[in-house]
Amino acid sequence: MSSRRLSRRLGFLSTVLLVAVTGLLAMVAFVGVRSILLQERSASALRQAHVGAALVSNNVLTGAGNLPALLAQINSSSNTVSQALVFGTWESVTSLHPDESIPLPVRERTLAGHVTSLTTTWKGHSLVAVGIPLSAISGSYFLLDNLDALNHELRNIAGVIALGWLVVTLGGIVLMRRQLASALIPLERASAVVRAVAHGDTSQRIAPTSSSREIDSLAKNFNAMVDSLVTQMQRDAHFASDVSHELRSPLTSLTASADRLAARRDRLDEDSAHLVDSLQRDVATFSGLVTDLLELAQIDRGVEHLVLDEVNIHELMDRCVTLISRRDGVSLPEVVHVGDPAATCVVDRRRFERVLSNLVGNAVKYAGGVSALHVEIDDKSARLSVADLGPGIADEDRERIFDRFYRGQSAFNRGDTTGTGLGLALVRAHVIALRGTVTVQRHSPQGSIFTLVLPREGTVH
Ligand code: ADP
Repeated sequence: MSSRRLSRRLGFLSTVLLVAVTGLLAMVAFVGVRSILLQERSASALRQAHVGAALVSNNVLTGAGNLPALLAQINSSSNTVSQALVFGTWESVTSLHPDESIPLPVRERTLAGHVTSLTTTWKGHSLVAVGIPLSAISGSYFLLDNLDALNHELRNIAGVIALGWLVVTLGGIVLMRRQLASALIPLERASAVVRAVAHGDTSQRIAPTSSSREIDSLAKNFNAMVDSLVTQMQRDAHFASDVSHELRSPLTSLTASADRLAARRDRLDEDSAHLVDSLQRDVATFSGLVTDLLELAQIDRGVEHLVLDEVNIHELMDRCVTLISRRDGVSLPEVVHVGDPAATCVVDRRRFERVLSNLVGNAVKYAGGVSALHVEIDDKSARLSVADLGPGIADEDRERIFDRFYRGQSAFNRGDTTGTGLGLALVRAHVIALRGTVTVQRHSPQGSIFTLVLPREGTVH
C-alpha cells in the first residue's frame, strides 16, 4: 500500500475514532450533569416536603387556622405547589382539583400510608411529586416541584456541551492530520528511495530521520543492502567489462574472416553459401552483444562519464532524427514540437542520440517504423516520445522489456534471433544517468508509445 493511501486510511480511521470517543465523552458528561441536577432537585423537594408536612400538621394540631395562607407561604419561596388533605378536605392554593394536579401513582401510594417521591411528566409538565402521609391529622401533604425551568437549563447545557464537542473534535482532527502527515514524511521519503533503487538508481540512500528509531534502523539495513548490491554489481560489471574487452580483438578477426568468406560467396556451393550467411549474421549479433555488454558494464562501473551540455532540446531532437534517418536509411516523420522553442535542457548529447537510436531501431524492427515523434517542454521537464503503429507490447511485458536480456513477445512472434535483449536495458541505464524516466504505454488505436521525461533542473534559464 502506498504511503499516501496509508495516510488517507489512517486519517479516516483516526477521525472516526476521535468523533466516536469525543461524542461518547460529551454524552457521558451531559447524562452525568443531568442526573446529578435531577437527584439534587428531587432530594431538595423531599426535604422541603417534610418541612411543609410538619408545618401543616402543626398548624392543624395547634388550631392556628388559615391553612391556605400557610400553603401559599410555603409555595412563595420556590417553584413548588403544595396541597394538603386534612380530615378528608383538600386544602390548596391552586384552582386545580387534586385529580388533575397530583399524579395518580403518588396520590394512591401516599393515601395508602407511604412517603412517595416520583420524578415524572404530568399533564405536559416535568415535575417531582412528593407525598407525605399525615397520620396525626388523618391527612396527607403533597408537594409538586415544577422542573420545566431546570429542563430549559439542561437544554442550554446540552447546547454548550455540543458546541464544545464540535470545537474539540474539529481542532483534534486538524491537529491529528498534521501530526499524521509529519509522521509519514520520513516514510514517504523512504518509499521514494526504495522505488528509485528498484528502478535501477542505486545512488539513492535513505537519510536518517532522528524522529523514529524504527525507520532509522530500517534505513540503516536498507542502505547496507544497497551498498552490498552496488559492490556486487560493480564486481559483476568488472567481470563483464573484462570479458567483453578480451573478446573484442578475436571478434574483430572473426568478423573480418566472415566478411572475407562472404566476399567469395559466388564460388561456394549452395549449402556452404547458406552457412556463410548464417555465420556472418551470428558474428554480427555476437559483435553487437559484446558492444552493448561493454557499454552496460562501463555504465555500471561508473566509468562512462556524463558529458553534460546545455542544449536546445528541440534542435537536438531534430538533429538526431536527421542523423539516424541518414545513417540507418530509415524514413522518419517530422518531429512535433510543443512549448517554448528556445527552451534548453542539460543532457549528454551522445547518450541522448543512443537512446533515440535504440527506440527508433526497435520501432523499425518490431512495428514497421515510427509513426510519430514529439518533444514537449515545460518549466520542469522535457517530454519526448516515439510512437509506432505496430503490434504493441503485451501488458505483462511492459515493465520487463527494460530488463537485461529480456526479449518480449514481439521478438518471439517474428522468430527474431538477431536481437540480444540489451537495447532497452541500455536505454534505461542512460536515462537513469540523466536522472530521467522511460516508460512505454499502449498507443491508440494500436502500437506503442515510448516516453522519456528528462528533468530541466540545473538548466540555466
Ligand atoms: P531486442 O530488440 O534485442 O530484443 P530490446 O531490449 O531492444 O532487445 O527490446 C526488448 C523487447 O521489447 C524486444 O525483444 C521486443 O519484444 C520488445 N519491443 C521493443 N520495442 C518494441 C516495439 N516498438 N514494438 C513492439 N515490441 C517492442
